[in-house]
Amino acid sequence: MTLPIGHLTQSIHPALSVKYNMRVYDLQKQGKDIINLSLGEAFFTMPPLDFEGMDVAKGYHYSSSRGLAELRQVISARYASAYGVPSDPEREVLVTAGSKAVIYMTLFMIVEPGDDVIVLEPAWVSYEEQIRLCRANPVMVPYTASIDTLEAHLTPRTKAIILNNPNNPSGHIYSKEELKALMNLAERRGLFIISDEAYSDFTPPEEPFTSIGVFDPGKERTFIVNSLSKSLGLSGWRIGYVIAHTDYIEQLLKLNIHLITCPATLLEQYLAHHFDRLVDNARTQIVPLLEKRAWAVQAMKDLGLEHLPGSGTFYFMVSVKDSGFSSSAFAESLLEEQLVSTVPGIGYGASVGDFLRISIGAEPRERLAKGFQAIRDKIHQSS
Ligand code: PMP
Repeated sequence: MTLPIGHLTQSIHPALSVKYNMRVYDLQKQGKDIINLSLGEAFFTMPPLDFEGMDVAKGYHYSSSRGLAELRQVISARYASAYGVPSDPEREVLVTAGSKAVIYMTLFMIVEPGDDVIVLEPAWVSYEEQIRLCRANPVMVPYTASIDTLEAHLTPRTKAIILNNPNNPSGHIYSKEELKALMNLAERRGLFIISDEAYSDFTPPEEPFTSIGVFDPGKERTFIVNSLSKSLGLSGWRIGYVIAHTDYIEQLLKLNIHLITCPATLLEQYLAHHFDRLVDNARTQIVPLLEKRAWAVQAMKDLGLEHLPGSGTFYFMVSVKDSGFSSSAFAESLLEEQLVSTVPGIGYGASVGDFLRISIGAEPRERLAKGFQAIRDKIHQSS
């Protein structure tokens, strides 16, 4: 049925990852035991809720549309101490209901209809559709292109580059050299950079994370977006934020006011009150998760499974090229026949159409090993 609604909304696709996860829930309801490699969460054990010493009565009401002042202070202090990006919590930080919302608000603020926005593949599922929702054009850059060759993809209408560092889904952590080259290009061509740093804490000690914000101390062109969804394991609390120049924050504030008013006040209070404790709680679980990542690299190597290079996050882009199947056909039959859920690479860009995105966050090693084996068997069975 064609609904009497705008063609733009009609033309938008739901995220492929969500589609696959819904199917997993259906199969689980039927009693099937699914090895879940599609869920984009790490499932930390959380300390019991503790509202002691908090003014919970305030939590029933709206808070500042910039985000609760105490929460902005801890977020600002953390970016300065952990990543060397200082900010004024009063004027350069805005807290929103999840980082997804503020990526959209930022795009909406900076583009005019018909502008181009560069997206580097493999690219997280929502960038392309959010750009379209702003009536702008996503310019998808294949994963084989390096930062040095990016300029060839720019047009006179290019307004911004979306950077996802570390990258979901490959796990690539951008080096200082790559970030400097990107900043150099942005300066030369007058572009904005939206740096989505949702996985900034998911990097091993030998390859530390650098925020591109350190190369733009005047915050002239950089929007640093981050989230507590992954770093603290609180995806359901919907708290994300942006650090940017005060002039841009004032504009984003208007969008925040009209779209969400403020994030859930009680949760903001809770986070401000327990921030250090929650950071410690996450840190102790990120260490074994990254060890599991290193184990997974070896386990896949032993099976001859190839994946894009990367050492951060808890995701991999695994090649199924040798199967001869498209990623969608492969993922679909892997789920229905082998009960292993993954996300087809095509959701992350055309250049990764013969990869699968897998997440190692939700399953223990034994079950991951079974999942890897099923992928390997299916590649060989079809080829
Ligand atoms: N960016 C990336 C790269 C992500 O993977 C996600 C969540 N999967 C988000 C942003 C959105 O996070 P939030 O929960 O803060 O909206």
